[in-house]
Amino acid sequence: MNTLLLSDNEKDIKTAGEILSRGGLVAIPTETVYGLAANALDGNAVKNIFKAKGRPMDNPLIVHIADFDDIKRFSLVSEIPEKAYKLSERFWSGPLTMIMPKGSAIPDEVSAGLDTVAIRFPSHKTAQAVIKAAGCPLAAPSANLSGSPSPTTAAHVMSDLNGRIDAVLDGGECSVGLESTVITLAAEKPRLLRPGGITVEQLESVIGEIEVDDAVLNRLRDDEKAASPGMKYKHYAPKAKVTLVFSSDKAYIDFVNEKNEKDTAALCYNGDAEFIKLRTYTLGDKDDYKSQAHRLFKMLRKIDGNPEIKKVYARCPKPDGVGMAVYNRLIRAAGFEVITLEEL
Ligand code: AMP
Ligand code: MG
Repeated sequence: MNTLLLSDNEKDIKTAGEILSRGGLVAIPTETVYGLAANALDGNAVKNIFKAKGRPMDNPLIVHIADFDDIKRFSLVSEIPEKAYKLSERFWSGPLTMIMPKGSAIPDEVSAGLDTVAIRFPSHKTAQAVIKAAGCPLAAPSANLSGSPSPTTAAHVMSDLNGRIDAVLDGGECSVGLESTVITLAAEKPRLLRPGGITVEQLESVIGEIEVDDAVLNRLRDDEKAASPGMKYKHYAPKAKVTLVFSSDKAYIDFVNEKNEKDTAALCYNGDAEFIKLRTYTLGDKDDYKSQAHRLFKMLRKIDGNPEIKKVYARCPKPDGVGMAVYNRLIRAAGFEVITLEEL
């Protein structure tokens, strides 16, 4: 299959809409990461997303809409919980996904057989325009090969999926850089399943206390069932072996400088780089979690671009605010390999 490279103009957005409405696959920019979109109401089109990504069929997809009323118009959910109205008023359009009881129009492929469905209204203007041009809600997981770091540019998408999908629409770099916050409102108590650009504190300021699922910060045991199936898979990992190092600035710098080998790199904060003898990749300033979120996948892919690098020692923020999202992705990229020199 020849993958068409589209631009961010009216004509190409219309072309993307046409491909999608006839059951094709188009990677589109959003404010979080690039999404691999298909008509969410067409089970066969959705099946092709799983094939193109090599995604396990038991990992459900997020349905993207371009208007709150699309939820009712397309019978996406059986009931809109009160808290969903409140959260949507404050955080939609934006990087928040809400899980609700599934509606009659949702094919099993989208929900992976669950009785719930994940819905998001992205704020990215091009994403909204493509959804409108397609005339249907779009199921769209991240547009990467399953397991690899999520794509934040069209070039990342091409490097994973060229020849496997119909088109990529280039809308520039994604602003948030990490996938959306996922909260379920289908359980008795609202529960955070995946941290993202909208923080726990922000959510609690609107709907009161929420639970944080165990799998957000910890490794699931083999026999444990994941509330969010995506959490059980090794994720976001570059080809090199990543180890997280929890420590003070000085102890980290001393630690990596002892590993002075050509196949080893440091994924660190801006302030560390000048003191480190190894090759460095920077996430941003130590307290600037937004920059760390924005740069994390880009840096993991850059590391992948250097085949010499086999080992990476990474710094990781405290799981506070947007830092929780960075921590959640990094600890999975590291397969939970951690060295603690000093507690965070
Ligand atoms: P991705 O779009 O690749 O970022 O993946 C979507 C994430 O949302 C995965 O971690 C899924 O497991 C999760 N998800 C989607 N739908 C549901 C659902 N109905 N219940 C729980 N988690 C879901
Ligand atoms: Mg993904």
